[in-house]
Amino acid sequence: MTHPPDASGPVHPNRLLAILLQRCPVCLEGKPFDGLLHMHRTCPRCGIQFERETGFFLNAMFFAYALGFVVLAPSALYLYLTGASTALFTGVMAAEILLLWPLVFRYSRILWMHVDQMLDPRRIPSSAPEPDA
Ligand SMILES: [Zn+2]
Repeated sequence: MTHPPDASGPVHPNRLLAILLQRCPVCLEGKPFDGLLHMHRTCPRCGIQFERETGFFLNAMFFAYALGFVVLAPSALYLYLTGASTALFTGVMAAEILLLWPLVFRYSRILWMHVDQMLDPRRIPSSAPEPDA
């Protein structure tokens, strides 16, 4: 018995790297985003449809909440402990949210797609183009 070539299933050694590099949850190679916030409808590598059903990415907001907390908590705690004024606190938090929001948006969708793939695996469609080598 060998590992399936399409990385379906709960554990794949390259999944963490694929999450970090923001890659497709199925083939772990295709790039879901083709702009700062714009996604391809299908993976340019394996052809799977990223949005499995209407409202699929609503679950990504739970990851966005968690990521937002992780991102903002250290500076919020630092500002609180150093006694920053309310105006400074608000300004720093607003600037941080605006600057990091695209990153949080992208990673929340990537994380959700990979978690969904681990919970309900899909395989590369048979009509997909053959990967190189
Ligand atoms: Zn793919």
